[in-house]
Amino acid sequence: MRVEKKWFIEGRAQRVIEALRNNGFDAIYLQTKEEAFDKIMNLIPKGSLVGIGGSVTIREIGLVDALVKRGNKLAEDWLKKYSMEEKLSIRRQQLTADVFLTSSNAVTEDGELINIDGLGNRVGAMIFGPKKVIVVAGINKIVKDSYEGIERIRNIAAPMNVKRLGGKTPCLLTGNCDLDECEPPNRNCHIITIIEKRPMKTDMTIVLVGEELGF
Ligand code: SF4
Repeated sequence: MRVEKKWFIEGRAQRVIEALRNNGFDAIYLQTKEEAFDKIMNLIPKGSLVGIGGSVTIREIGLVDALVKRGNKLAEDWLKKYSMEEKLSIRRQQLTADVFLTSSNAVTEDGELINIDGLGNRVGAMIFGPKKVIVVAGINKIVKDSYEGIERIRNIAAPMNVKRLGGKTPCLLTGNCDLDECEPPNRNCHIITIIEKRPMKTDMTIVLVGEELGF
């Protein structure tokens, strides 16, 4: 990576880390996903129940297999051939897991976490329930403010997520959100959350990684 690019990424990331800390989060910047892997494995107690949200970032870091190998029990249904009832049961388990592991759709320069969800289990578990929440985000998730965060989700993350999940939405056809033409049951976006400050009773660590990760 060119020194100018590295300088720019690290400067921006450090400003976001400072803003997150000012908002009460435990926040750390690591340059690579390998460093993030080591840090997160150390943050998760051995033997604990770990809920994992539908996050490409978490899978790209390789945490799922490593946790299983180490003996952690997981509450996650990614790519599993479960019935809807079984999936819902696992997602309810995530809400009371020892640790909940997820990414954030966007992280603002003033230290807020922006997310859009359909079912709500992911954003619900980020806010209250699990004893500890670990949020991992690549530098591609940094946005100026909540407005840009929602735009990012609707026009960058959502089309790729719909493609991944095999839905049928306007953003899949054009790459851009069209709220007027997107209605349930096809619509993926039902809930927007903006976590402005660390939720009062949730131990929350944000791991910002100096690489592009996830959608
Ligand atoms: S509201 Fe519909 S069109 Fe817009 S991003 Fe969500 S799924 Fe895509």
